[in-house]
Amino acid sequence: MAEWGYLGEELDGLRQKGLLRQIPWMEGPVGPRVRMGRREVILLCSNDYLGISQSPALAKAAKEAMEKWGCGAPASRSIAGSLGIHRELEEELAQLKGTSSALLFSTGYMANIGLLTTLLREGDLILSDELNHASIVDGCRLSRAEVWIYRHRDMDHLAELLRRSNHRRRLIVTDGVFSMEGDIAPLREIKELAGRYDAFVMLDDAHATGVLGREGRGTAEHFGLLGQIEVQMGTLGKALGVMGAFVAGERVLIDYLINRCRPFMYTTSPPPPLVAMSKAALKVMREEGWRRERLWENTRRLREGLQGLGFQVRGETPIIPVLIGDNRLVMEASRRLLELGVFVQGIRPPTVPEGASRLRVSVSASHGDQEIEEALEAFRQVGEELRLI
Ligand SMILES: *Cc1c(COP(=O)(O)O)cnc(C)c1O
Repeated sequence: MAEWGYLGEELDGLRQKGLLRQIPWMEGPVGPRVRMGRREVILLCSNDYLGISQSPALAKAAKEAMEKWGCGAPASRSIAGSLGIHRELEEELAQLKGTSSALLFSTGYMANIGLLTTLLREGDLILSDELNHASIVDGCRLSRAEVWIYRHRDMDHLAELLRRSNHRRRLIVTDGVFSMEGDIAPLREIKELAGRYDAFVMLDDAHATGVLGREGRGTAEHFGLLGQIEVQMGTLGKALGVMGAFVAGERVLIDYLINRCRPFMYTTSPPPPLVAMSKAALKVMREEGWRRERLWENTRRLREGLQGLGFQVRGETPIIPVLIGDNRLVMEASRRLLELGVFVQGIRPPTVPEGASRLRVSVSASHGDQEIEEALEAFRQVGEELRLI
């Protein structure tokens, strides 16, 4: 047998820098609280913003779909993997995003890689926000197009780069809600610059779908730009509580992806129960508007509470990053919070820039007043112990 010694050495290196990752195991269903080890703790790092994953409507839909359509779609989408239920979900997703068409992907990671490698050619330019999600970064790396990075939400910088570009085509790509910052892309300004410099806009609405806009239709709805964004990607695994992703846009875009987008073409179709759960989740989202209201009320209370305690808090959405800086200190804070009954994961490089480690707090519609208060009390105690406030 060959020896893996060099991997062990690299892991030791990570450990020494306080960067080793270990998987936190949970032993029960994931709701406002969750069992870790022998204890129930408040869960404050889930992306299930509307608390939809636990809705009985989803389990019911999955069971019914299993009986009607079977457990698996036994091929890729363009062979024998497209069932009526896939078409129904795609039609609903197009409607949600105000476009003529939509296409399902297995995951958002695959959708982003697929889009960025398929839509642009050598001689084209991708303009990407420096804090875009890792799947966009990887899509840029794999694309044949040139990639220029603009400073986070810096429209002067973006304008300057657009002015300098003499590429054949330009595409501006941005997260709608930034996954580790919790702030919102200035989509109006981006759209305005794109118009002036004849660029396409690609919007990653993973954390905005279900969260932003009066009806939860995402960043475009929030800014009154529904139907005006060339490429909208969204996921079914965050506020919709299931798994999977989609691209919404004009028919020609979707037809092209069906023909040329390898992460769509060469992978097995999502199984019917999963598709049915996404359809049910969309229905819950549409019909239970109180979830989004509650989410934003909880966001306000937790955000203001943490700020009031003196923590350095960023963002403006249900993603509430608490900046700590040091890698070890952030993990120590996370560990102490867990001892006090609150699970918040520490986020370190390479997920965030060097020196910007943080507790990424995220709140859900399913949290009650009691949980918000208990969480704030634990934060106060840890903040004082570790001199963070
Ligand atoms: C989670 C996430 C993705 C990836 O989506 P998955 O469906 O989980 O693969 C892409 N972009 C952003 C901004 C995300 O937060």
